[in-house]
Amino acid sequence: MLLSVASRDTHFTPMCPFPPDSVNDNAPILLSPPHMTGDEKLFIDEAFATNWIAPLGPNVDAFEREFGEVLGAMPCCATASGTAAIHLGLALLGVGSGDVVLCSSFTFVASANPIRLLGAEPVFIDSEPESWNMSPSALRRALEVLTAAGRKPKAVLVVNLYGQSADFGSIRPICEEWDVPILEDAAESLGATCLGHPSGTFGDISAFSFNGNKIITTSGGGMLSAHHAARVTRARFLATQAREPAPHYEHREAGFNYRMSNVLAGIGRAQLRALGSRVATRREIFTRYHDALGAIPGIHFMPEPAWSHSTRWLTALTVDPKKAGTTRDVLLQALAARKIEARPTWKPMHLQPLFAGCGYFAHESAGCSRDTSARLFQDGICLPSGSSMTVTQQQRVMDVIAGVMQQATTCRGAS
Ligand SMILES: *Cc1c(COP(=O)(O)O)cnc(C)c1O
Repeated sequence: MLLSVASRDTHFTPMCPFPPDSVNDNAPILLSPPHMTGDEKLFIDEAFATNWIAPLGPNVDAFEREFGEVLGAMPCCATASGTAAIHLGLALLGVGSGDVVLCSSFTFVASANPIRLLGAEPVFIDSEPESWNMSPSALRRALEVLTAAGRKPKAVLVVNLYGQSADFGSIRPICEEWDVPILEDAAESLGATCLGHPSGTFGDISAFSFNGNKIITTSGGGMLSAHHAARVTRARFLATQAREPAPHYEHREAGFNYRMSNVLAGIGRAQLRALGSRVATRREIFTRYHDALGAIPGIHFMPEPAWSHSTRWLTALTVDPKKAGTTRDVLLQALAARKIEARPTWKPMHLQPLFAGCGYFAHESAGCSRDTSARLFQDGICLPSGSSMTVTQQQRVMDVIAGVMQQATTCRGAS
């Protein structure tokens, strides 16, 4: 996915998808490449020196403990990916064949796939304009309608997008009222807070990702956390093939092979120590974009409500064609032509062919319903936001955008 700009570009050598920064001012600028601290090798070397190459081992135990401390003493289970953590989390909540699971529509497909993999049916919930995350009013309507129809949802999967938490101050009381557990997809929001509490502590179960593009990475990996230690113990059991305690291989139920490798957990330990500075850098990058482009007519950055402290994992904005005189797609093309990787915002799940026919609740139901996530997809763009991006590189991005917008204004003035 990260390579698509590079593969379209014949001048770019495909050998190294993540070129070190500041080598060349014309080097491609990627959306969110891995940012190593240098200390990762110390933990990997230790794993090699002690031959803890097999899955599990001391780095996994330490990474789980250290990660749990960042969340405020939460029990944690390291997993092979964020998707694995979501799959396990839904299984722990008892989601199975024929169940309904409510799920944020405006997200990456990895949030929704595990629902189907368990034989359950996703029903998608729109975003609200204030946070771009799950609309509490649409959630309430979905719970009312489905419960009245005798199809009370088994769980609500709430996603925190682009480094920002969903509005759990509103969502949690609704779920408590209806007595439906929350699985929090915090894959994109590690380091953020909501109402002063760490993102990923609002769900009954939460899932994180350490994929290469996330704010910290293990190259690939994830984490499941839960308020009840017994749930995490069961997550470990299910994630290790559901092997019963016996000298031979005894199995009563079907499990998964979803644990993290001890080598990769070593990378995560070094990365975790840099989390605070990574958040600060991503926010600085956002502020530079905002200061340079925020006053241009038709450009609207993803808002940050008062209850939220976003990491600005990705700087995201919308381009209103009527006010800007140009479109998101024109901007994407101009950036790609300059070897700058930008992306449309996530295409909502209710618009994906994969989920055609699934239920959907829009933010506003009155009259012709206003579909917030569809609009955010149509006009939304994510800009390069990697914490290793230099100020000079970011200036290149901003110059291209300012140039396109300037041209649009001139054309509009002439017509
Ligand atoms: C990255 C991501 C995931 C999946 O994580 P992986 O580690 O890539 O499996 C799930 N949900 C969201 C919202 C993500 O951005």
